Amino acid sequence: MAMFIRIDVNEDVVRDTGVASKLIETCPVKIFAPGADDKSVTVVDDNVDECTLCDLCEQACPDGIKVVKLY
Ligand code: SF4
Repeated sequence: MAMFIRIDVNEDVVRDTGVASKLIETCPVKIFAPGADDKSVTVVDDNVDECTLCDLCEQACPDGIKVVKLY
């Protein structure tokens, strides 16, 4: 379980905006992985605390991804 960061994913927005593969490619520390189908993503819990707060995922999907600092 991640201690420092939580990634909130609005699956409907990710699906509707078609950014799943972009999110998977963009994150430098592999926090996003393919979901149940090619329009969805899952969050790789083991990698979440590696987040560099680079903001690329939120830029790719501003309404669908929120990086929440827990500290
Ligand atoms: S802020 Fe950067 S490192 Fe963190 S989840 Fe988004 S793309 Fe990955």
